[in-house]
Amino acid sequence: MDKNSNPSGENPKKKGKYVSIEDLSFSGTEEKKPGGAVIDASDSFRDTQSTISKDGRVWVYPQKPQGKRYDKRKLVSYFLLAIFFITPFIRIHGNPLMMFNIVERKFIIFGSIFWPQDFIILALGFLTLVIFIVLFTSAWGRVWCGWFCPQTIFMEMVFRRIEYWIEGNANKQRLLNRMPWNKEKILKKGGKLVIFYALSFLIGNLFLAYIIGTDKLFQIITDPVGEHLGGLVSLLIFSGVFFAVFAWFREQACTFVCPYGRLQSVLLDKESIVVAYDYVRGEPREKFTKKRDEEAGDCIDCKKCVFVCPTGIDIRNGTQMECVNCTACMDACDIVMEQVNKPKGLIRYASENNIKEGKKFRYTGRMKFYTVILSVLVGIIVFLLTNRSNVDTRILRAKGQTYTVTPDGHVSNLFTMKSINKTYEPISFTIRTPDYNSEIEIIGGKDLTVDGNEVINVTFLLRIPQSELEPGNNKIVIELLDDKGNIYETLKTNFSSPGMQDHGK
Ligand code: SF4
Ligand code: SF4
Repeated sequence: MDKNSNPSGENPKKKGKYVSIEDLSFSGTEEKKPGGAVIDASDSFRDTQSTISKDGRVWVYPQKPQGKRYDKRKLVSYFLLAIFFITPFIRIHGNPLMMFNIVERKFIIFGSIFWPQDFIILALGFLTLVIFIVLFTSAWGRVWCGWFCPQTIFMEMVFRRIEYWIEGNANKQRLLNRMPWNKEKILKKGGKLVIFYALSFLIGNLFLAYIIGTDKLFQIITDPVGEHLGGLVSLLIFSGVFFAVFAWFREQACTFVCPYGRLQSVLLDKESIVVAYDYVRGEPREKFTKKRDEEAGDCIDCKKCVFVCPTGIDIRNGTQMECVNCTACMDACDIVMEQVNKPKGLIRYASENNIKEGKKFRYTGRMKFYTVILSVLVGIIVFLLTNRSNVDTRILRAKGQTYTVTPDGHVSNLFTMKSINKTYEPISFTIRTPDYNSEIEIIGGKDLTVDGNEVINVTFLLRIPQSELEPGNNKIVIELLDDKGNIYETLKTNFSSPGMQDHGK
């Protein structure tokens, strides 16, 4: 949604006083006063990020939020933080619950290993997640950002709260920043940064545990430093990045870096439910004084909704890219409405059409379309997962080898075999060629047993009587049988025998 597209239309109750977007110049400098209402367009509409000015970064000092939604968000964040911290330590059949080892291309989801051979499932899973986010966003806006996103949870529910605890609320923080460097400032700022770094280091460790697993992480921590220099460097880089994000970069991670925020303009429409200011009810805004115009809207222009905003925006200007739907402004405004005896919900979860025309939530054609695609994708993934083979084997003729003819009239080819056991139990197997009287010799006399979630690499020599072979290339079938004699994998490969001129020699 264009950030300038709301408010729009007319106020049916207070016609002549409401200022719609069409009444305002987009130049950002003019001011219009239809019906006596005063809105400073230069203050309301921007063509730059809220936290960037000509002079550089505008540091945001949000007021400490309070209210029932904030309390609920705290509970949700405790739950999610617990999951985040516990997950790397949970094991299923000895495997971590979740592990995303990008370097070794080994992914574990709910204890099941996904090998590079399962890439299609992972890719489809990722696509499904994207479609789910698109559908969810077109219906419910950025609920994810405000309630579930790790960046918001760590920033607003951990680091910001530590900051309030050490430096006090917004005004005290401002004063502290302006203060010359004295003992109090050094202690507060220094103490805060030490705690921030310690927490970032902890998060960096956990983040690494999601990539390499807790066992390897403990090795890095406990072994001599020199033995895991790569791991240690990764750890320090992660910690440094988290520290920089939470101590300094902050809301800019959402407004500059996160692509999801930037996609809002294409994902949202007038039916999407977002944190929205009811401009129909609220305008024309007017201070809460004895001389207040009876025709004035419910907004008393106290700006409490602006003061609590962690991204430094005024939600009364409509949906903006910077809004992470944290609901802090909803809580702040509800408290104000209570104090001035007006109904709550001047800022609430609502769609543009709900505010402008009083329409209820509608499941639009676009949402139905996304739902169909999502259902199809989920169906495909379920099918692939349920039909995912327990063992994945590749057999190839050994590189640079053709055939050997033995004096007893056999032709032998050398094969390499890689077998992945995707179950948790060990599998012992034998190899046979159903169409030939073949002999199989495992090089190195290896036992054909592969442990659960492990890989076995085997080289074997396959001998087939020359009389059973066609000259040149023969397509042969190789079957793998478990210890009960059941065929669990059938593979096709090429077997090379002498050409016509040498055949029968
Ligand atoms: S908190 Fe409510 S009343 Fe105060 S400025 Fe914001 S919208 Fe208006
Ligand atoms: S406008 Fe409201 S919901 Fe959006 S980020 Fe600011 S405080 Fe949070």
